Amino acid sequence: MGGNFLDYHGSKVSCMSDPKSQDFVEIQAQWVSVRSRIRQKIGDAQFKSWIKQIKLTNFQDKKVLLSVNSNFLKTRITEQYLDIIKSYWLVQNLKIDDIEIIVIKNDESKKNLGNTQNKSKDISLTESKSNDLFNSISSDLDSRFTFNNFIVGKPNELAFAAARRVSETKDVPFNPLFLYGGVGLGKTHLMHAIAHEIKARNPLRRVIYMSAEKFMYHFIKALRFKNTVAFKEQFRNVDVLMIDDVQFISGKDSTQEEFFHTFNALIDQNKQLIISADKSPQDLEGIEERMRSRLGWGLVADIHPLSYELRLGILQAKEEKLSARISPNILEFLAHKITSNVRELEGALNRLAAFSSLVGREINLDMVQDLLKDLLRSSQKKVNIEEIQKKVSQHFNIKMSDMSSSRRSRTVARPRQVAMYLSKNLTSRSLPEIGRRFGNRDHTTVIHAVRKVEELRSKDLSFDEDVQLLIRMLES
Ligand code: ADP
Ligand code: MG
Repeated sequence: MGGNFLDYHGSKVSCMSDPKSQDFVEIQAQWVSVRSRIRQKIGDAQFKSWIKQIKLTNFQDKKVLLSVNSNFLKTRITEQYLDIIKSYWLVQNLKIDDIEIIVIKNDESKKNLGNTQNKSKDISLTESKSNDLFNSISSDLDSRFTFNNFIVGKPNELAFAAARRVSETKDVPFNPLFLYGGVGLGKTHLMHAIAHEIKARNPLRRVIYMSAEKFMYHFIKALRFKNTVAFKEQFRNVDVLMIDDVQFISGKDSTQEEFFHTFNALIDQNKQLIISADKSPQDLEGIEERMRSRLGWGLVADIHPLSYELRLGILQAKEEKLSARISPNILEFLAHKITSNVRELEGALNRLAAFSSLVGREINLDMVQDLLKDLLRSSQKKVNIEEIQKKVSQHFNIKMSDMSSSRRSRTVARPRQVAMYLSKNLTSRSLPEIGRRFGNRDHTTVIHAVRKVEELRSKDLSFDEDVQLLIRMLES
C-alpha cells in the first residue's frame, strides 16, 4: 500500500491503490466525467462550493473512497450530492459496490488512510433489505413547501390547480401529471405540497417522492442485483409516485427502458404519477419517442416565467414572515430587477433582512444597490437601445424606422411601447434619453409606455409570453 499519485487537482494525496493500476486509472477517468456531468447539472457556483472539494482517494474491493477535509462538507455533500454521484457513477461502471465519503483533515491524511476500512459505513450499496426500502426510498419533504406558502398568479395557476386537484381526490384525475418549467419556478415546491396535503388528508395513503437521480440509482442497483422484480414490488403499495427532474433520466438507455416499463406498469395499476422536468415532454432531449408521448398522455402543466406581479406578490408574502421590515418600494425594485427565478428573489430578500436586523434600521435603496451588487449585475446584461429596437421590430415584423417614426397605428405603436419598456428595464438609460432615442419623444410618453406594457403583461398571457421571449433573446 501507500503509493502517491496526483489527484485531479494536481495536489498530492496518498492512497492505498496502485495509482498506475488499470483499474484505478479507469476510476480516475470516470470521476472526471462524473464531475463534469454534475457541474453541468448544478452550475459552477454550487460545483465550486461542494463537488470541487471532494478528492478521489482510493478504490479497493470495488469500493470508491472519496474524501473531504471537514465533517461539515461530508454531511452536506452526503445529503445533497451523494445520490447524484452514485447514480452518475453507476451509469458508467456497474461494478462499483460502494461509494463512501470520509473526512481526512489535511495534515493527517497519511495517518488516517491506513484504517479507513474500519470506519463505519454511512452508505452502503450492498445492504438492500427490500422491506425497509419503502421508507428509505422516499426523500425528505421540506415542511415549508406547502400550498399555503405558494403564491399563485397567471404564470403558475394551471400547475397549482392541477397539483391541488391531484392531492384532494382519491381517484386519479389525470395520469401522469407532468409539471414543467425553468429552474426555481416552484416545481419541487408544488410536489412537496402535494405530498403534505395527501398525508394531511389521509395519513395512510402512501406517497413516494424522489429525484430522478435517486430513482435511477435505486433502479440500477436493482439491475445489478438482478432484483428488478423486487424493485417494482416496492411501488405496488404506493398510491402516489412523484419523480422530480426527470430530464436527468434522458440518454441512459437501459434505465430509460426500465423506467418506461415501471412507469407503464404503475399507470396500469392506476397509481397516480407526478413527474417534473425542465422542459415539456416534446422538448425533452434524449428521451425515446414512445416514452415522450406517454409522458404527455395525462395533464401537462407548465409554469411560465414569473410576471412582475407574481414576483412582487411572492416578495410581499415572504416579507411578512421576516422579522425585519422592507419597504414596499424596495420590494418593487427587487421585483423589477430580479427576474430570473424565485430562488434569487428569496436570496435577495433574506440578505436585506439579515443586514437590516444587523444594523438595526430600515434599508434604503442605496444600501440595496450595494448589498445586492452581484445579483443585480448578473440580471442586468449589457443590452443597448438599438439592439432592443432591432429585435422588437423583427419580432413584430415592422420596420426599424418605425421605432422613431410618428406613426400612431396600433401595429407600430404597440411594438414601440414594448421597446421603450424593455429599454427602461434592460438598460440604465434615463427616461428622457430613452424618449430621445425613440424619435425625440417626451419622457412622459416613455412612462406611459412602461405602464401600458406592465398592464398588458399582467392581463394578457400571450402578450406576456412575447415580452418574456424578447427579454430572453436580448439577454442571451
Ligand atoms: P424548481 O423545483 O422549479 O427549480 P423550487 O420548487 O425549488 O423550484 O423553488 C425554488 C424556491 O422558490 C423555493 O424556495 C420555493 O419555495 C420558492 N417558490 C417558487 N415558486 C414559488 C411561489 N409561487 N410562491 C412562493 N414560493 C415559491
Ligand atoms: Mg426542483
